[in-house]
Amino acid sequence: MSDMHPLTRKITIIGAGNVGATFAYALMLSGLCSEIVLIDQNTAKAEGEVMDLNHAVPLTHPTRIRSGSYADCAGSAITVITAGTAQRPGETRLDLAKRNAAIFKSIIPDVVVNNPDGILLITTNPVDVLSYVSLKLSGLPDERVIGSGTILDTARFRHLLGQHFNLDARSVHAYIIGEHGDSEVPVWSLANIAGIPIEDFCAVSGCSCDDEARNQIFIQTRDAAYHIIERKGATFYAIASGMVRIVESILRDQHTILSVSSHIKGLYDIQDVFISLPCVLNRHGIQRVIRLPLNAMETEALQNSARALQEVLHSLD
Ligand code: NAD
Repeated sequence: MSDMHPLTRKITIIGAGNVGATFAYALMLSGLCSEIVLIDQNTAKAEGEVMDLNHAVPLTHPTRIRSGSYADCAGSAITVITAGTAQRPGETRLDLAKRNAAIFKSIIPDVVVNNPDGILLITTNPVDVLSYVSLKLSGLPDERVIGSGTILDTARFRHLLGQHFNLDARSVHAYIIGEHGDSEVPVWSLANIAGIPIEDFCAVSGCSCDDEARNQIFIQTRDAAYHIIERKGATFYAIASGMVRIVESILRDQHTILSVSSHIKGLYDIQDVFISLPCVLNRHGIQRVIRLPLNAMETEALQNSARALQEVLHSLD
């Protein structure tokens, strides 16, 4: 990215499925980039999505949208990876990780050889594991490999808190950290509204958010994907919006703090794993990771989450 022309506004998306195509649409509507390339092993699917998207261009933002091959990654500010297979019924997270890691072995080297200066943004699940795999396969510096991580879980958490307090979710400040998945951690100790800790906000506003309510909000956050997949087979609008937010922070050098997955080496005694914490994002990718003053329970939960991810990593080849 450092050698990249500052006006580069090209984004390449690998995987033109639900998430990849919805992200391309959201990105086009955002007007953030000048060029979008879609690559999929199912070339007809990529071509069809491109045709449909291009017909929206005259009605939205001038954007060059085309399908392509790995050579077309060249010059992309960010290559976004959404390619992969979904979890089969009864399949363990480890089996899914193995299948998608094998797919990544056939993708990441081709991306990097054609675009050594770009940033990688990974969304395929299990996202923390595959972000680590991408770091190793690519040889890119830590700051240029980013997993979408808990940006989605944090959005779900803020939505539910906003609903609970009858407030705009954007006025609720709270994070989900750790794994994007079952061991994720809600940071209740730092959650606040208008700078007021939740407990004090309840006292001044006459609301309540007791342990039972908190537990319900967290469970609904953590298990949201299961409930959506049960009903419509996949999730894609919210993650696509989160990905646009990440891309915006990078392309516009915004120094935005977002909960994304990055390579953690020593924070909270967590070593060599991708896990989500609030990170400052700028044109170089991850500028730094914010060390939250977690309480003892949250720290332990985060360390357990890291251990669960490390176990999966150790079981991969
Ligand atoms: P999908 O099946 O609709 O799309 C996947 C696409 O990847 C398909 O078009 C397929 O042809 C393509 N593909 C597979 N192998 C490929 C290869 N070797 N090269 C190029 N393309 C290849 O799936 P989806 O619903 O879009 O989900 C994609 C991934 O995103 C899944 O792993 C899903 O779990 C994940 N996801 C992550 C989050 C998150 O918050 N991180 C949220 C939603 C979905």
